Amino acid sequence: MDIEKKTYERPIIKPLNSGLMNKFGTRTEYAPKTHIDGVKVKDLIAEYGSPLFVMSERQIRENMQSAQRIFETRYPKVQFAWSYKTNYINAVCNVFHQEGSWGEVVSMFEYNKALKNGVPADKILFNGPDKTDDDLRTAVKNDSPIHIDHLDELYRLIEIADDMHKKPRVAIRVNMDTGIYPMWDRFGFNYENGEAWDAINKIMASGKLNLIGLHCHIGTYMLTPSAYGVAATKLSVLALNIKKRYDKIITYIDMGGGFASKNTLKGSYQLGTDAVPDIEEYAEQISSALLNAGFDTDELPYLYLETGRALVDSAGYLLGSVISNKRLSDGRRSTILDFGVNILFTAFWYDHKVSPAQEFSQYTEDTVLYGPLCMNIDVVRENVTLPPLNAGDHVVVHYVGAYNITQSMQFISLRPAVVMIDMKGVPHKIKSSETLEDVERNELLPSHLSTFEL
Ligand SMILES: *Cc1c(COP(=O)(O)O)cnc(C)c1O
Repeated sequence: MDIEKKTYERPIIKPLNSGLMNKFGTRTEYAPKTHIDGVKVKDLIAEYGSPLFVMSERQIRENMQSAQRIFETRYPKVQFAWSYKTNYINAVCNVFHQEGSWGEVVSMFEYNKALKNGVPADKILFNGPDKTDDDLRTAVKNDSPIHIDHLDELYRLIEIADDMHKKPRVAIRVNMDTGIYPMWDRFGFNYENGEAWDAINKIMASGKLNLIGLHCHIGTYMLTPSAYGVAATKLSVLALNIKKRYDKIITYIDMGGGFASKNTLKGSYQLGTDAVPDIEEYAEQISSALLNAGFDTDELPYLYLETGRALVDSAGYLLGSVISNKRLSDGRRSTILDFGVNILFTAFWYDHKVSPAQEFSQYTEDTVLYGPLCMNIDVVRENVTLPPLNAGDHVVVHYVGAYNITQSMQFISLRPAVVMIDMKGVPHKIKSSETLEDVERNELLPSHLSTFEL
């Protein structure tokens, strides 16, 4: 191991509050994060630049295998489908596919991405409210399960099926009261007011669609596992009644995603790592509800899961560097980092865990972390207790694997590269940093605007 020279830190005077739990958590939050999967943060930044997203292949596989084990020990027929919008870098998707996950998509763009990655079309679950006639035709031709969102889509699909002389494999998305408010009732057909039954009756009466599944996605970052028990029970009631009334066996119940990751929600007094339910608790609720619903053993439906953030958030890191420090007018320390909310979108909801990437002294100070964008909203952390960081020092933001890369926005600066560290500790670039050419690729300049004199 090489020994690094400690950098000078200017002395500061402040009351010491040693070892006590405070509302910002314990001191352990401020342990330095010098390596990711055995690779030095400093070396990663030197090689690939700053800021930089880093994905851990090992962590993805561990999360996936653990979730699979947890569900399979409780329920005999389980199938995961990777939620593309959560993180659709191909290398990330393919780790999930190698672990046995199908694909779950909410647009034709994502559908084509999954196809291109090699997911068999009949293993791509097609969700979302915005499927055009062309999209539906492609999915019907390919035999992909189509999860119908609303009545207009249902009618269009019946027409398309008729036209194509093919019986599409479909499920309906159902929304329902699970005791969690606000209810996510804008997607799918409502359970309580009878819309879901209405859709089922229309599908069965048409004779044109093959109803094979029932789907729900009750929310995201759901902190109440019992809500999943309620949802699984309600979908089971529908499935059992479809069997009773139409003698039609529903082959799968898809519980969607929404399990919370270990991030800390803004305003929460407990750290996410302490407050968030374990996957076991969600699995227990879902499996008990399905097993106790009253299915004949040989007609037990498959359990599909579209878990996104809970499987990938902890596998993603954002590395960055300190640009400068300032004192705010109220005396607080403010540190300007080289990444902003345009690439750390989830900073609007989470108090992200941020660690210095190098050893530091025991002194800490309340600090505001700003991004580099020329906008007031560019705040990475409004208040975090950190040791003094000097210009050029590096930081690591934890739990950023979900929804940051896919929701990142090209704004003011170019988006950074993404690296994946493989099982042997070797980094691979899985996405290059954006270039001026990338950003201007789709721009067109009318000829009368091509020149000017100043
Ligand atoms: C976004 C989404 C998911 C994944 O949700 P997470 O909260 O990331 O687990 C799954 N299914 C559908 C239909 C979605 O829209």
